[in-house]
Amino acid sequence: MLKEAQKLVASCPCGQKHAIKTSVLECRDGATELLISYLKKNFSAKDILVVSDENTEKYALPIISSVGCRAFTLPGNAHANEIETARLSSYIKASGAPSAMIACGSGSVHDIVRYCAHEIGTPFISYPTAASVDGFVSGVAAMTMYGQKLTYPSSSPVALFAEPAVFSSAPRKLTASGIGDMIGKITALFDWKISNILTGEPLCSPIYSMMKEALGGIIYAAENNADDPKLPLLVMNGLLLSGLCMQLSGNSRPASGSEHHMSHFWEMHAANEPTDALHGEKVAVGTALMLLHLKSNADIIDKPFDIDESIIFSDDVIRPVYGSLTDGIIKENIPNGKGSSVIAKLGNNSLTAHAEEIGRLIESLPAPEKIRDLLRSCGCPAALDEISLPDNDKFTKLSLYFSPYVRNRLTLSKIISAVFISEEAHKR
Ligand SMILES: [Zn+2]
Ligand SMILES: [Zn+2]
Repeated sequence: MLKEAQKLVASCPCGQKHAIKTSVLECRDGATELLISYLKKNFSAKDILVVSDENTEKYALPIISSVGCRAFTLPGNAHANEIETARLSSYIKASGAPSAMIACGSGSVHDIVRYCAHEIGTPFISYPTAASVDGFVSGVAAMTMYGQKLTYPSSSPVALFAEPAVFSSAPRKLTASGIGDMIGKITALFDWKISNILTGEPLCSPIYSMMKEALGGIIYAAENNADDPKLPLLVMNGLLLSGLCMQLSGNSRPASGSEHHMSHFWEMHAANEPTDALHGEKVAVGTALMLLHLKSNADIIDKPFDIDESIIFSDDVIRPVYGSLTDGIIKENIPNGKGSSVIAKLGNNSLTAHAEEIGRLIESLPAPEKIRDLLRSCGCPAALDEISLPDNDKFTKLSLYFSPYVRNRLTLSKIISAVFISEEAHKR
C-alpha cells in the first residue's frame, strides 16, 4: 500500500506533486515486534515515551517492557481536548521532552499525542489498537478545544505499526465505527467528482481509484459476511489507505465530503445536545441521510438557479442556526471577502451544462436503504435516533441544509442548500 502511494510521489499521471511523510507502514502479523526493533534501532530507550489510555494500556505493556522506555497513561475516556493535552504536556515538561512518542490507542489517543508531539517538534509513531477511524496517518489533529470543534495542522506519524491480533480484538462497536468512516467515502468521492466537474478542482485519478477500490472491497466483504473475523483487517487497510490518500492530496478531499460535514455539524452542538456517538457512527448516519437527500433532489440538475453568496452567507440566514458560532462560519465560507466562497466560484446555472453527467453520478449512488441495512448488519448505527439525536423532520432538514456551511468546500448538498435558501429568501 505504501509502495503504491510512494510511486505517486515519484510521479503521478495527474500532473500534481504529491507528498507522504509516513515512511514505514506495517499492518501485518508481527507488527509489534517490528515496532520494538524499529524503536531500539532508531532511538535510545530513555528518550521514548509510549502514551496509551486505561483501555489500551495492556497493549502498551509488552512494548514498554521490551524497550525499557517511559510510559504515560491517559484516563479511559480521554477526549482530545485542552484538559488531556495539558495533562500530557505537563508530564512531558516535568520528565523531559522525549525524542519519539508512540500513540498506542484509537483516535483520541492519537490526536492528543499528535498535538503534543507537534508542539515540541518530536516525531510520533502510530500503534492503532482499533480499526475505528481513518485519522491514524493523517496530518491534522481533530480537537475539541474549549467546546469548539477545531482541526489543527499537525504531524503525520513517521511510522505506523498495526498488529491484526490487537486491533481485531477491539470491541465490535469500534470496528463498526471504522466501517462507518469508510462508508462515508461514497459521498466524499461523489462530492470530489462533482466539484471537479463544476469548478475544475483538481482530482487525482489514481487516488480516486484507490479509494473507490478500498471502499468497494469493504462493501463486498461486509455484504457477504459481516461477522468475518478478517473484516477488521480489511477495514484497517481501508482506513490506512484513506489516511495515505489524504497525505498525498494534502487535504481531506478523498475522504471527507457532505457526510463529514453532517458529523461536524452535530459535533458543534449548534442545533443539538452533545452525543456520545463515535466519529464513524456519526459519519455513517450522515451518509445514509445524505444519499436519500441527493437522490430526492436529483432534479437540481435541470433547475435554473440564481444564488447570491451575500444572501446565503448572511447573518440573517446563519445566526438562527449557528448562534454564537455565526461569525466563524461566515468567515469560513467567505474567507477573503466578496466572491471568495465556493458558491461564488461556481457561477449560476453551471449544473445544467453538465446535467447528464451529474445525473448519472447521482443515479450511480447506492440506495440509502441498502447502505442502512449494510451498516446495521455490521453493528453500526444508521439513523439519527440510533446515535441519540432528534429523529424528526425539522432536525433532519436543519442538518441537511445547514451542515454544508461548516466548511468552504463544494458539495452537491451545498448547492442544493444554496438554491433552497435563495428561494426561501426571495419569497420573503
Ligand atoms: Zn472520518
Ligand atoms: Zn495524482
